[in-house]
Amino acid sequence: MKATKKNKKEIKKIKKPRASTGRRGTKKAEIKFIGKPMLVEKTDPAMVIQWPRTLIHHHTYGLLTPFFEGLKKGILRATRCPTPGCEKGLWLPPRADCPDCHARMEWVDLHNPVIGEIFTFTRVEYPGFGIELSYPYYQIDVKIPGCCTIMKGYLIRGEAKIGMKVKAGFRMRKPTNTILDLYWEPLE
Ligand SMILES: [Zn+2]
Repeated sequence: MKATKKNKKEIKKIKKPRASTGRRGTKKAEIKFIGKPMLVEKTDPAMVIQWPRTLIHHHTYGLLTPFFEGLKKGILRATRCPTPGCEKGLWLPPRADCPDCHARMEWVDLHNPVIGEIFTFTRVEYPGFGIELSYPYYQIDVKIPGCCTIMKGYLIRGEAKIGMKVKAGFRMRKPTNTILDLYWEPLE
């Protein structure tokens, strides 16, 4: 394409960028490396460096958002199927849609104190990577009256026993904004 008069002017501009000098009379400004040198992992058969990377996973709670908002307010929210003749028990953890008839579920706030019973438990001695609880701790399965499900959680203190009564507690002062904001404590 033949360059127009205007284009020629622009090309000229691109070809001759302004010199990156400092102020007149001072030393020329130098570009500095502001990162951290990479660690050389190996050099044979090729040079390999360690290049640390982090990533943020944007995780949506989607239709289960009311459950997590409830935890921050000290409310345990379950769901219930509105379809006549379908399962009438409450679902906890909640389901957005009924697993049996696929209808959109209704939200039900449980009255405090929510008292359940330990159905079974595991003493976690060596948790997997990513567990954000101090250990050992008791992972417990809690039977809650009115629920058709058995919910998993953790005991915040004490020793778990099958059949033991536990009360739902909420991490409201410093919420984690995760399921860990719900814990169970021995009913005293
Ligand atoms: Zn249903």
